[in-house]
Amino acid sequence: MNGSFEATIGLEIHVQLNTKTKLFCSCLRETNNLPNINICPICVGLPGVLPKPNKRAIILAVKSSLLLNMKISRESFFERKNYFYPDLPKNYQISQYRIPLAENGHLELRNGKKIGIQRLHLEEDAGKMIHSEGGSYVDFSRSGIPLCEIVTKPDISSPDEAYEFLARLHRVLTWCDITEGNMEEGHIRCDVNVSVRPKGSEKLGTKVEIKNVNSFRFIKEALEYEIARQIEKIRNGESIRQETRGYDPTTKKTFIMREKEFAHDYRYFPEPDLLPIIIDDYLIEEVRREIPELPDSKKKRFEEEYKLSEYSSEILTSQRILSELFEDLGNKFDDKKLVANFILEEILRSVNEGLCDLKRDYIKIRESAEEILLSQTKGELTRNLAKEAFREVIEGKADIHSAINKRKIKTESSEIEQAVEKVLQNNPKEVQRYKGGEKKLLGFFIGEVVKIIKADPKLIREIIQRKLG
Ligand code: ZN
Ligand code: MN
Repeated sequence: MNGSFEATIGLEIHVQLNTKTKLFCSCLRETNNLPNINICPICVGLPGVLPKPNKRAIILAVKSSLLLNMKISRESFFERKNYFYPDLPKNYQISQYRIPLAENGHLELRNGKKIGIQRLHLEEDAGKMIHSEGGSYVDFSRSGIPLCEIVTKPDISSPDEAYEFLARLHRVLTWCDITEGNMEEGHIRCDVNVSVRPKGSEKLGTKVEIKNVNSFRFIKEALEYEIARQIEKIRNGESIRQETRGYDPTTKKTFIMREKEFAHDYRYFPEPDLLPIIIDDYLIEEVRREIPELPDSKKKRFEEEYKLSEYSSEILTSQRILSELFEDLGNKFDDKKLVANFILEEILRSVNEGLCDLKRDYIKIRESAEEILLSQTKGELTRNLAKEAFREVIEGKADIHSAINKRKIKTESSEIEQAVEKVLQNNPKEVQRYKGGEKKLLGFFIGEVVKIIKADPKLIREIIQRKLG
């Protein structure tokens, strides 16, 4: 990258935890409703209310800490982070500061590089501002939703690494049901710090923050642009200003949002209405037991046990549900590659085209695939017919049995023999010529038989050859 410069990148990620209710009250977490529906005096912070912590949120944060190889604080506490903003009517956010829930972990990239994680803490989300022409609005349904804030060490040195880190973090957190991980819904939000410096220089460059970028791909693009921008400035003898920038995906450029902010004094102090969070060995063990086999280990197992290619195993372990579908179906067939290919080609194609959803239509997908693959292994369906049948079922145009039955090629040789007999009787001249040595007429006979009966051409060929000696 740009010869003599190197980039230093750190990420700050907010992950919405997959709980049923909010962090300190029993309002539902879901927001995909009318605005200001799931709210109560606690989550809008009316005076005199008492927050009560959600144990599930703490468990999910502990689980994230274990997955990120972090040191869990046996005793941490909530603090009030004081600031005013229209989406935060109580004037403080309940967060953690001096002692976070966990510290000092790492997440490993594919090439073995470990990206350090500085801290992980629990906090509540604020409301959501909506700016539109008639004015600005605020939806408090999001207030009090549990978040895990994860801050990396500045160990990331390229946009590709940042992308891979985020993709891996997303995969492991969704794999373990810690977050729903829906990017459009803002379940994972990421701010980026980036600076550049001459290679080998001890001193870090001035860092710029990029905020509110809502997809991993855009984060990568924003970093690419921003690193080039900073290098060019340094080369021109200009200095980098400490500032907060946004990213515009249409122009693929970052733009200034605000100049160096005065250092906020949030006047943190311990939240007097909440007890410390005590985490004992028993809880840690309980959480550890909830962790399923992780993607990297499953991927290795798919390669070794089932002899799948690295590529197939990688895709089959990109989502837990996909790996489970493979195992569910794979259990029923000896030919694991047949199952893997059917999932990678047919099922994923249908999912990508929006014809079905792995979670919503899991049973339908699994059952149709099983019936179809069963017919294919029995020789009743060719690969193409199997594909057609699956598509018809997924498009809702036929049920699985009629989709298979109408395509089934006959394997009962008595029926095929009758058809062959009929063709030979109807074409005595061709039979004579074949017997006289014109072997290429075999194709003609097969063609005639197929007009009468849908059957495996290989089988037809065998029967004709046998009958004509
Ligand atoms: Zn509430
Ligand atoms: Mn935060």
